[in-house]
Amino acid sequence: MQERALLMIPGPTPVPEEVLLELAKHPVGHRSKDFMAVTEAVLQKLKWLHQTKNDVMILASSGTGAVEAGIINFFSPGDRLLIGANGKFGERWIEVAKAYGLDVDPITAPWGQPLDTEEFRRKLEADTAKAYKGVVVTHSETSTGVLNDLAKINDHVKAHGALIIVDAVTSLGAVALPVDEWGLDVVASGSQKGYMLPPGLGFVTANDRAWQAYETAKLPRYYLDLGKYRREVTPFTPPVNLIAALYKALEMMEQDGLEAIFNRHQKQMRATRAAVKALGLPLLAADSCASPAITSVAPTTVDAQQVRSLIKKRFNIVLADGQDHLKGKIFRMGHLGYVSDRDIITAVGCLEAVLNELGHTCSGAIAAAAQELIK
Ligand SMILES: *Cc1c(COP(=O)(O)O)cnc(C)c1O
Repeated sequence: MQERALLMIPGPTPVPEEVLLELAKHPVGHRSKDFMAVTEAVLQKLKWLHQTKNDVMILASSGTGAVEAGIINFFSPGDRLLIGANGKFGERWIEVAKAYGLDVDPITAPWGQPLDTEEFRRKLEADTAKAYKGVVVTHSETSTGVLNDLAKINDHVKAHGALIIVDAVTSLGAVALPVDEWGLDVVASGSQKGYMLPPGLGFVTANDRAWQAYETAKLPRYYLDLGKYRREVTPFTPPVNLIAALYKALEMMEQDGLEAIFNRHQKQMRATRAAVKALGLPLLAADSCASPAITSVAPTTVDAQQVRSLIKKRFNIVLADGQDHLKGKIFRMGHLGYVSDRDIITAVGCLEAVLNELGHTCSGAIAAAAQELIK
């Protein structure tokens, strides 16, 4: 029997059947009245998810396109950006900014550690000439499972006055991100993460301060020109089925409520981490900076690659590999979006079985996880 794979990777994440069914329908015309009504409803729901009164732009792109749009619409060639990089995604934003001729000042931390908020404070306070025009922060660094202290970094950015651009790709819909309350200027995300959707849509919201900067920003832009999406919502042919599916997914999220969604992610994160500890495997990120979307495990007594291939072979559970220098050294367990408590119990139980088969004797994963899940 070919069992359905259990995707425990940080994107694409599992998709509910009601959402999937929208993708099986005939596409509708994107200028039709029906589609316009769906789009209008989706925009309202996106504002709810972002906790913002500002527009949320929908792009036909992956998350990278959304963050790239977030970077290139508000600056001019040679503008100086402070970019936090403590993993693959932070490093990617440095590459994007450089590709567009921005002047990048990186703040780095070793992979697995959070960005040092004091370093942001020092650099921003020292910049009395206001050379920094923007600060880019990856909230949940998916390559390591570290949640950066966005609130604190944002306080320092606010005191300085630069724009803050947030990669919220694996934090939006997983952890509290009060966009307006914190005054986050630009926030980008992608459909295949917390949205319970397949890949294909990117989202960017921007506030008045950002739109002011947009007016004078001179970097080249066309398909990712956010002003076009603000004026017309779908200036180019959008993936109409994905937008119908998005409506369903957001409706499901609304039924749960933001608080319940965030609590579920917290609980599943704690359960996963408790199970990994019970199994005697080291976690890459400390409890104090753990991402509610993903848990990275850095085993020393067994080979990470073997764990991944055996759990796939025995149980059809897909775990993510490490990236770059952590490739083959860690495995990552996603618990983002449409993940049930049962999925967590299943995953940690199967992990235990696989570890024992590989000669790492251990027990207690399910009990440890269950204890957190029933709290
Ligand atoms: C997935 C992800 C992205 C975007 O990746 P795409 O493959 O372009 O969708 C960006 N940032 C983070 C933190 C991510 O997890």
